[in-house]
Amino acid sequence: MFKLENILRQNIKELKPYSSARSEFNGQATIWLDANENPNESGVNRYPDPNQLELKKLVSDLKGLPVEQIFIGNGSDEAIDLLFRAFCEPGIDKAYCFPPTYGMYEVSAKINNVALESIPCLENFELPSIERINSVTTSKGLVFICSPNNPTGTQHPLEKIKKICRSFSGIVIVDEAYIDFAKGQSATSLLQTEPNLIVLQTLSKAFGLAGLRLGMAFSSPAVTSVLNNIKPPYNINTLSQKEGIKALKNISTTTSQIELIIKERTTLTTLLKNLDVVDKVFPSQANFILVKFHDAEKVYNFLKSNGTIVRNRSNQIRETLRITVGTPMENKKLIKLLKELE
Ligand SMILES: *Cc1c(COP(=O)(O)O)cnc(C)c1O
Repeated sequence: MFKLENILRQNIKELKPYSSARSEFNGQATIWLDANENPNESGVNRYPDPNQLELKKLVSDLKGLPVEQIFIGNGSDEAIDLLFRAFCEPGIDKAYCFPPTYGMYEVSAKINNVALESIPCLENFELPSIERINSVTTSKGLVFICSPNNPTGTQHPLEKIKKICRSFSGIVIVDEAYIDFAKGQSATSLLQTEPNLIVLQTLSKAFGLAGLRLGMAFSSPAVTSVLNNIKPPYNINTLSQKEGIKALKNISTTTSQIELIIKERTTLTTLLKNLDVVDKVFPSQANFILVKFHDAEKVYNFLKSNGTIVRNRSNQIRETLRITVGTPMENKKLIKLLKELE
């Protein structure tokens, strides 16, 4: 059974969070002499809202979740790091993931001196059986499920995620960086019933705001307040908050871009399948396609020498390149280049 107080680190339980000037008083005033700011207005001379309330309200409307269940991080990478710091005693607790998957879990685990145990996915990139997972995990720590998974594009069924939440008494993180490109539903629908679930999303991919560094973690109000207590007070800068707000108020642009990217994914998949240099195209629920070539290294170098960069994933999955879906023109050029290799 999951109990927050059983898995929260002692130092975090004892933490009295830093109280910033902007969080102690945030009402109306005309003269602000509380934060040692330079009083000359420039648009950025004041500290940003530490609670990112306007941004969170828009996220709340979009996701149908209350503000108390929304954490905003400096990219989802910040949330990943904070989760290690809140729930894993360095050198003692463990985290678990299902490779091939996103490399940041490993890096963040290492930085926090936490052992990350791999429970490999099945041949078809599905998650291992519950029995297999239970045989490896202990009663604490973090389980990372990336869905749709990077770099395979596989989306994992919610039924399975729910079962993992119920059989593991630590924290289960579902990283949904690519959910906006997927057919299946978001795991946020499980938050009501699964208190140990955290769903990560980001504005870096579908929303086209990678440069702003805006990541989101959705979880129970109790877990959300843990994250809020340990984050740097002003983790989201003024300009990022402003641009994020602008993008969320103009959601139709994003929606039509997502539609086009999904359409291009289908076209690109078909065209790739017909190439002689291609061995296999894996079905994708994300904005990239994992492709197995007969000689991935050769294809990678050829594309590179023609100014086109893809991601070589051959060290994770034999002879594969991960190709991001570009604009229709970029995709056309990619196919034209690959045809030159035939
Ligand atoms: C790109 C990516 C992220 C990155 O998110 P940021 O919000 O840009 O930090 C997180 N998870 C996965 C699986 C990704 O591929």
